[in-house]
Amino acid sequence: MSKPKQQSLFEDEELPEDPMPWERNSQNLYLAQIVLNRPVDRVFHYLVPEPLRPLLKPGHRVQVPFGRGNQLAPGYCVGVGPADENQPSVRLKSVDAILDSRPLFNAKMLKLTRWIADRYLCSWGQVLDCVVPAGVKNQAGTRMVTVFEVTDPQTLQGRNIPEEVERLPAKQRAVYDALKTAGQPLTMDALTAAADCGSGPVQTLKKKTLIRSHQKRVQQFENGDDAAYAHITKQDDLQLNRDQRLALDQILAAIRGQRSETFVLQGVTGSGKTEVYIQAIREVVSYGQQAIVLVPEISLTPQAIQRFRSRFDSVAVLHSHLSDSDRHYHWQNIAAGKVQVIVGARSAIFAPAPHLGLIIIDEEHETSFKQETAPRYHAREVARKRSELEKVPLILGSATPTLNSWLRVIEKKDTLISMPKRVNNLPMPNVNIIDVRNDVQVRRNESIGRVLFTGMQHALEAGGQVILFLNLRGYSPALWCKGCGNSVKCPHCEISLTWHRDKSLAVCHSCDFSAKPPTNCPSCGAPGLRYVGTGTQRLEEEVKAKFPNYSCRRMDSDTMRGVGSHAKVLNAFAAGEVDILLGTQMIAKGLDFPNVTLVGVIDADTMLHQPDLFASERTFQLIAQVAGRTGRGMQGGRVFVQTTSPAEPAIVKAAEHDFLGFARLELGHRKEMLAPPFSHYARVILRGPQEEHVEQFARQIAGILHDAAEEMKLSVQILGPAPAPIIRLKKYFRYHFQLAAVNVDEILQLWREVDPKLPREKGIEYIIDVDPVNMR
Ligand code: ADP
Ligand code: ZN
Repeated sequence: MSKPKQQSLFEDEELPEDPMPWERNSQNLYLAQIVLNRPVDRVFHYLVPEPLRPLLKPGHRVQVPFGRGNQLAPGYCVGVGPADENQPSVRLKSVDAILDSRPLFNAKMLKLTRWIADRYLCSWGQVLDCVVPAGVKNQAGTRMVTVFEVTDPQTLQGRNIPEEVERLPAKQRAVYDALKTAGQPLTMDALTAAADCGSGPVQTLKKKTLIRSHQKRVQQFENGDDAAYAHITKQDDLQLNRDQRLALDQILAAIRGQRSETFVLQGVTGSGKTEVYIQAIREVVSYGQQAIVLVPEISLTPQAIQRFRSRFDSVAVLHSHLSDSDRHYHWQNIAAGKVQVIVGARSAIFAPAPHLGLIIIDEEHETSFKQETAPRYHAREVARKRSELEKVPLILGSATPTLNSWLRVIEKKDTLISMPKRVNNLPMPNVNIIDVRNDVQVRRNESIGRVLFTGMQHALEAGGQVILFLNLRGYSPALWCKGCGNSVKCPHCEISLTWHRDKSLAVCHSCDFSAKPPTNCPSCGAPGLRYVGTGTQRLEEEVKAKFPNYSCRRMDSDTMRGVGSHAKVLNAFAAGEVDILLGTQMIAKGLDFPNVTLVGVIDADTMLHQPDLFASERTFQLIAQVAGRTGRGMQGGRVFVQTTSPAEPAIVKAAEHDFLGFARLELGHRKEMLAPPFSHYARVILRGPQEEHVEQFARQIAGILHDAAEEMKLSVQILGPAPAPIIRLKKYFRYHFQLAAVNVDEILQLWREVDPKLPREKGIEYIIDVDPVNMR
């Protein structure tokens, strides 16, 4: 399918008005409202030709001529009906074709996507196009086949069909009878098998027009995913403890009352939140309804999936490794109401469940629920809206809820459910903050300090397992010149290159640029660059040297490239074949191994010192989550957090398992600054090849927005512009500023009004990110 050129959108607006008066046709004009996947939020009107009128429904994907060249483009029908008098009298084009047999969106999903376009400042067409997986658009896993059927004798006028059939040669007669008996169209293979003949008689019958053929789309899904789980033995629900029971009862009341209530389920790690989810889902499934469970992609571990598969008959797992055809298969099954539970990452919030009964977001605080490309939606906010439209409850589960959700609890907009204790009264692990500023080993450039080393020794000798967490992959995060003090940067980004020793390459973790490292400093020419700092590769080397008698595995996105590699390592760890598991945030979440008696955080400061509004919140969350990986068995567990900022409140509160204390403190700071969640930000990011131009342009449009806000009497503040923390990324220079307001609607109103009139500057692009989570 050819795509129209980008400019045609604007050319289209300049089309001359229809010379014919509108009134001449309006009585029998039937129009479709169509949106396209373009950045401009506009609805186009098309005529619906007679044959398509009974078929075309809102939610259908269509093909329409677009732009001056009338090239065919895919679009989405968002409304159909007879033209009304107010229709603008421009020359109208006609819908060319309907692309799917059934609409892809129902009325509620159309409403939801319209809301997303408004809330995240993008076009309706962009949202709809993002919601439909590629595999559904290109009908992956289906193919066209030729099928045969008996021609209706009524259409063969003037012929005596029974007599013709009577006189057919035996083979042709067999074919004819086989088709009649089948009562449905058959493929050539099925037909020749049924009639026990070759293709010759079939072709002859077709020539005689006694039978006819047509093309039909059929499914040929591999469906490998489901087969792999078919053997899982079903398990009974657990007997809930008191806290779980209280939690479930509140949720059940909302389900039964068909209330769109939001619950913030704040339960410490290991408090048994998943069991509460499962039994709440059990209720809606018993009504024949479906549930959506969102989890961060990295938590979609085989262990987690198994927990749902062992409890429900039909679970669809939507993860990023699915093939197009698997995705299409799931979409069809979900839309047909055949799936009880949909478990997936961010985009699973759009699962086309026809009778949704419940939405759950586990690890609600995870930043991956925010999409970083247009439409830049946050799945949690979309879930709130969907729960409102569908009148179903929403559960936001976490040990460390976002301050955003927490403020809603304080303001009594959402309902708090607390699960403060671990199941079976297991104690929370003991978290020790280790000040490594004076540690001899750390000063010698080692990563495992004296205290952590001793702790590991004891844990391993007692037969326990150890998890070490370090949020930097690669060998060394910097190549540093002793002569001039500079580090080697990516030629395209303002980011230090990371040394990957296994590949002997210096790699940019932002754009994936890689090169042999220079032998001399690119800044001053001095020889002898030093590899400083530690990434997971170097840590692995150190662990193997210090604990040669124990087996150690590394999990980061470098070692976990292959499908199934995750499962392999985790299974080995679960089986006790691996003593020490080290890795990036990949191992911080969700893992539940009772034999892990020690968790070490190699460097708690990596997150803390980022120039980021959310640095404290993320540090707190991370330490609390990592700590949650231990003490899940009877042997108890200990956590060692190495830091050079031992008094930092985010670290101290996390060590005390004091979410309430942390929330109070951090919300206090945010309130003083009137920062989110007490206000909303929308971040405008500009980029271009020349720094001065980008800066000038940023000032210009920030100025325009500022003046417009005053004129429109909106309380929107403009913070910046300033260079973005990563000032250069993939060859482009970047500047940003924030639009800040207590009421997000004022930001939306301002941008909608001003954006179409903003000057365009050649080579400079800009985007807007409402409620950003990434400030870099
Ligand atoms: P969370 O999601 O809150 O971190 P989990 O749901 O993973 O906690 O539960 C931790 C462990 O406790 C799991 O192994 C789970 O099977 C077990 N568990 C949960 N609820 C119960 C219960 N009522 N009785 C016994 N074990 C339970
Ligand atoms: Zn780069």
